[in-house]
Amino acid sequence: MRSSIFFAFFAKFLYNFSMAASKTRLSARFVARRARQAYKIATLGSHSALQILKGARDEGFGTICVATSDRVSLYKRFKFIDNIYEIPKFSHFPKIENKLIADSAIIIPHGSFVAYLGIEKNKKMKVAYFGNKKVLDWEADRLKQREWMQKAHVPVPRRFSKHSKINRPVIVKSYGASGGHGYFFAKNQKEFEVRIKNFRARDFIIQEYVIGVPLYIHYFYSPLSKTLEILSIDKRYETNVDSLGRIPSQNQQGLGIEPSFVVVGNSPLALRESLLVEAFAMGERVVATSKDLFAGGIWGPFCLETIITPQQKFSVIEISCRIVAGTNLFINGSPYASLYYNKEVSTGRRIAIEIKEAIRTGKLKKILN
Ligand code: ATP
Repeated sequence: MRSSIFFAFFAKFLYNFSMAASKTRLSARFVARRARQAYKIATLGSHSALQILKGARDEGFGTICVATSDRVSLYKRFKFIDNIYEIPKFSHFPKIENKLIADSAIIIPHGSFVAYLGIEKNKKMKVAYFGNKKVLDWEADRLKQREWMQKAHVPVPRRFSKHSKINRPVIVKSYGASGGHGYFFAKNQKEFEVRIKNFRARDFIIQEYVIGVPLYIHYFYSPLSKTLEILSIDKRYETNVDSLGRIPSQNQQGLGIEPSFVVVGNSPLALRESLLVEAFAMGERVVATSKDLFAGGIWGPFCLETIITPQQKFSVIEISCRIVAGTNLFINGSPYASLYYNKEVSTGRRIAIEIKEAIRTGKLKKILN
């Protein structure tokens, strides 16, 4: 509420300012620059903060990093960060909210926002927040995600709701799993029955294990221009599943090696061009369907986590509804981003471009929560 009053007040100020500017023949560019200087881009010091704040600075915004004490020294190294607000723990974030509001800060959420603050604290945030918070509930629940993808006619791995129906290799995922932890693999029903006994999670889903290449597509949807861009693509490097091939299978026998999916890094990937047609179409259907499912739908960055089968079909295993860590590979832009922009545009910078455009056209409210 306080932030919306603030924005109403600020919009009026900008309007008056632009009127004055036109009277005194100040250029529109000058007005836009002043407006940009009035807002600051802020985020938590973690995940993709460097990319986000570098992109914000490249687009002319002031920048704020909210960092825990142990990370202040890291963020101090970078000149594109104007202010560092130190907090003892991420959970103390609400305590500095009023300061951020007073700074006219716009928060850019990333993966650590949900991981460290939880959904409820994200929803309660009063400071201006880039993106639609309504997406949080759809993203958090694996079954709702699945419903969203299916309504969008996006192929998803088969799900087994009854153990007795398992007729192929499966991956079992707990609801709170992240970064590849909280999973197990079973090659058939018999193996599943043995493994499930030691699995601690109460809520989990049993999914067909899709054999193919995992590929993460980084999209950006602009509610201002109503266009979808693919900004970059990565593939994850996961231990030990990506290294099992280093030991021939006959040598693995008897070692009792279990596949695990813990992420250790990401590498860039250029997709076979013919597959881009479906990659764009899937993203567009996901955006269109989201508008039917919740008011405003999804906007800004999101990622479809896919596996491509030998038949060159996508299977979508998850959607992340914000900037993902794999975009950090592309702080200097990517082969895809350079198809739209004649400058180095990362996902972080693309967010700043959207905010700048919203300020210029007086549509900031449309992209903030
Ligand atoms: P994050 O939240 O960081 O994206 P997560 O733990 O939710 O991670 P997922 O992306 O769901 O992770 O899966 C982790 C890894 O497990 C994937 O990168 C992929 O290697 C593997 N995986 C997940 N689901 C499947 C599936 N249905 N078939 C084959 N492999 C899968």
